[in-house]
Amino acid sequence: MRILVTNDDGIYSPGIAALAKVAAKFGEVRIVAPDVEQSSMGHAVTHSRPLSYKKSPIEFEGLEAYRVNGTPADCVALGTHLWSKTDVVLSGINMGPNLGNSMWHSGTLAAAKQAVLLGIRGIALSTPVGKTEPDFDKLAPFVEKTLALLLKSTDLALYNVNFPEHPENIIWTRQSVRLYDGTVIPGTDPHGRKHYWFTVKPLEPAEEGTDRWAVENNLVSITPLRLDLTDELALQQQQNKTNEKDV
Ligand code: MN
Repeated sequence: MRILVTNDDGIYSPGIAALAKVAAKFGEVRIVAPDVEQSSMGHAVTHSRPLSYKKSPIEFEGLEAYRVNGTPADCVALGTHLWSKTDVVLSGINMGPNLGNSMWHSGTLAAAKQAVLLGIRGIALSTPVGKTEPDFDKLAPFVEKTLALLLKSTDLALYNVNFPEHPENIIWTRQSVRLYDGTVIPGTDPHGRKHYWFTVKPLEPAEEGTDRWAVENNLVSITPLRLDLTDELALQQQQNKTNEKDV
């Protein structure tokens, strides 16, 4: 199995090294990741300037690794173009959760989405960061269990995985969309000018069965996603209205 590993934190993140190490147990791994951090870039693609890649200056235990002057989606497009017959794209492990509404701006998930757009399976993996960096050695057995579960099938699919700090088990979940946690916080720069931070406001516990709920309860959350955003109910209602008028 040919596994392309990428992320949005950049090639120097410890999260991508941790993921590549576990991925190597499942097949041939190649790392293609942004040369600088690209978090919260969503599904941005670079079309106004050319892309290029260079061999990574850091070692990944003998794995081939390249850094790209582009976004996570660019890395997947370029990486799978140069490495034919890629079977699956793994993105992460992101330093920070990608739960609920953050899926909209996640670069980690966008890389997995880009894979699926190209007809390749995509899995995004994330974990929260507290005051210290995540203990990736502790997460490794759960990363391996999750990959074993998700790589069993060769069907085209998109998964968003979030690991809690202390995982106890793995559970299938839905995306939590009830509450939005993004907020703008004003501040002042050293010259006395106003500036603003876009940040995440902690939320109350989420509804049971959702990704956020799972991580709050020490469960690894796996959410199967689809690319078709069509609101089927609204579409049906609008079509029914139009049809009534036509009669
Ligand atoms: Mn990130």
